[in-house]
Amino acid sequence: MDSDEPEVVRICKCGHDLVVRTSWTNSNPGRRFQSCSGDAGNQYGVFEWIDPPRCRRSIDVIPGLLKRLNNQEKQLKDNGQKLHGLEAREDDIMVYRLCEIVACVIILVLLILYLRATIVCM
Ligand SMILES: [Zn+2]
Repeated sequence: MDSDEPEVVRICKCGHDLVVRTSWTNSNPGRRFQSCSGDAGNQYGVFEWIDPPRCRRSIDVIPGLLKRLNNQEKQLKDNGQKLHGLEAREDDIMVYRLCEIVACVIILVLLILYLRATIVCM
């Protein structure tokens, strides 16, 4: 457990636990806060910052890094979908080649049977 994290679970006025969340807004990127876990959201006004305010440099840099990370995750997901599509096409090609092989074997068997019948007739 992070030493900065509250160790005692506190209860909101509505009866739900207070939970630790992380802000990803541009003005408070990565800054943890505590608020109500209930469906009513924050109607009782329980909201407390856990971490101190970020320095100006963090506020300037972290959103850009987050954007890059999100773009890379999207790219990774897109590449995974492309790979899945290529694997499906590869499976289709394998089935097609298998059909070609089966067709060749059938033609060879028919040819052998024809030649045997031709030889027997001679
Ligand atoms: Zn509450």
